[in-house]
Amino acid sequence: MQDQEAVLNGYVDSQELLNGFTHEEIGDEHLYTGIDTPLKANAFEQSDKEKKEQIAQLFAQIMDVMGLDLKNDSLRGTPMRVAKMYIDEIYSGLNPANKPKVALFENSYQYNQMLVEKNITFYSNCEHHFVPIIGKAHVAYISSGKVIGLSKLNRIVQYFAKRPQVQERLTNQIARELQTVLETKDVAVIIDAKHLCVSSRGIKDDTSATVTSFYGGQFQTAEKVQELYNHINN
Ligand SMILES: [Zn+2]
Repeated sequence: MQDQEAVLNGYVDSQELLNGFTHEEIGDEHLYTGIDTPLKANAFEQSDKEKKEQIAQLFAQIMDVMGLDLKNDSLRGTPMRVAKMYIDEIYSGLNPANKPKVALFENSYQYNQMLVEKNITFYSNCEHHFVPIIGKAHVAYISSGKVIGLSKLNRIVQYFAKRPQVQERLTNQIARELQTVLETKDVAVIIDAKHLCVSSRGIKDDTSATVTSFYGGQFQTAEKVQELYNHINN
C-alpha cells in the first residue's frame, strides 16, 4: 500500500499507478491517478454564464445526435437545465471560488479528544461515466488548539463531492483540506459509497459498496482507528 501522506503530497507519480497498462487495456476499471482534479490551466477564464451557454449548445447537439426532437415541449428546456445543473450545482466544486471559507476558532473548551462528524450524506458523480456516486462520509480530527464550526466539515465534504470524482481522490482531497484548515495532521476520513456506474450499468451489482479511508497523524494507530470505528458504529 502506498504511503498516504506521500499520495497527499503528490510524491507518487501518476504513471506508476497505471502499472504498465494502457488506458484502453484498463477499460472500464476505475483509475485513480493523483490527488488533484485534472483541470486545464485556463479552466476558469470563461465566466459561468458563458460556460452555461456553451454547455447548453453542446448538450443539445448530443440530444440531437441521439435522435431526440428538441422542438418537443418536454425536451426544449433540457439543454439549459442540464447546463445550469452542471455549473451551479453538481460540478460547482470545480471552481475554487466556491470553496467554503473556513474560520478557525480557539479551542476554548480545551476539548482534546477526537471529534467525529459522521454520516455526512453526499452526492457526487463518477468522472469515468458521469453518473452518480451516493454515499456517506465520516470525518474526524483531533484539535491542535484550533477548531472549526461543525457545519464547515459538512461543507468541505460537499465542495469536493461536487466535482467529477473518483472515490479515492475525494477521500484524499477532503483529508488534505481538513489538514490544511485545521493546521494538524491528525485527521481521518472514511467514505462508504455506492457507484451507480457499477449498480445501474456495466456489471450491474446493486449490493456492493466501496469504502475508502485516510488516516493521518495520530489516527495511524490501531487504537485510534478502533476508537473512531466505535464512534461511527455507535
Ligand atoms: Zn464510473
